Amino acid sequence: MSTGIVIKNMNGYFYIQDEFGTIHECKVRGRIKKSKYSLLVGDRVEFSEDGFVETILPRHNSMIRPAVANIDQVILVVASHNPDINELLLDKMLVMIEHADIPVILCINKCDVGDASTDALIDKYKSIGYHVITTSAINHIGIDELRNHLQHKVTAFAGPSGVGKSSLLNAVDEKFAFQTGEISDKIKRGKHTTRHASLFSLNADSFIMDTPGFSSIEFTDITLERLPTLFPEFSDYVEACKFNPCYHEHEPICGIKEALANHKIFESRYDAYTNIRKDIQNQRKRF
Ligand code: GDP
Repeated sequence: MSTGIVIKNMNGYFYIQDEFGTIHECKVRGRIKKSKYSLLVGDRVEFSEDGFVETILPRHNSMIRPAVANIDQVILVVASHNPDINELLLDKMLVMIEHADIPVILCINKCDVGDASTDALIDKYKSIGYHVITTSAINHIGIDELRNHLQHKVTAFAGPSGVGKSSLLNAVDEKFAFQTGEISDKIKRGKHTTRHASLFSLNADSFIMDTPGFSSIEFTDITLERLPTLFPEFSDYVEACKFNPCYHEHEPICGIKEALANHKIFESRYDAYTNIRKDIQNQRKRF
């Protein structure tokens, strides 16, 4: 029996990379098919010499969309410029990642075209407590640091199209050779291709996950009670709230609104909170 990690699922076969980097084409046994856990990309498994997955090893996390298991971290990439940073979208993505309880590194790419507003944004997210790195795929800035963060982990790259995710990965290791380019060209190219999540191997125990659909944001399974806990900086102030639960909107004596008034919580973050709250309420009405 050997162990390995599922890197791809295609046409009923699972492709499993073992510890030596060899890829095995395997099928699953009926009892795994019947169990409540279906095999996911990212699963660590035991498989037999005749090409059958025998056991799924315990997972430390799993997601439904995309259907993947055992992501160690997300690198959320935005660009200093072109496309400009949409802070609301950034906060929405951070909330989704917090909800999945996966460590995140915020990567500000295209620092070669950054200005003072980029610096202010970096300071802001650092002060909230996020780990922020700055890179330029074009000028090869911050690439060694990025590569170091990828070692011994399964990393998902997320972020809007055109921010330079493919370019960064190609800079980390030229073997990746991902297609890069202007957004309009990509949309044209991507039109007819169905993409499944798969892992790319940087080395024997470092993997990059291609994350189709990771940027589609739906908050359906986040409750209104959970939402404030997904803004890490709120936790310092909730104790001062009179009500429990407090939704930090219309309640009197609210620690979050007080912190906002005292500029201890950024207005844009509070606005993102109320915005997502509305999204959740509207989605509930629809279902
Ligand atoms: P993706 O959609 O996030 O994978 O983005 P791509 O890697 O395809 O990059 C989109 C465009 O941004 C391409 O034209 C790249 O050449 C350009 N680009 C990527 N990284 C950088 C960078 O660090 N600086 C600058 N100025 N342009 C970049």
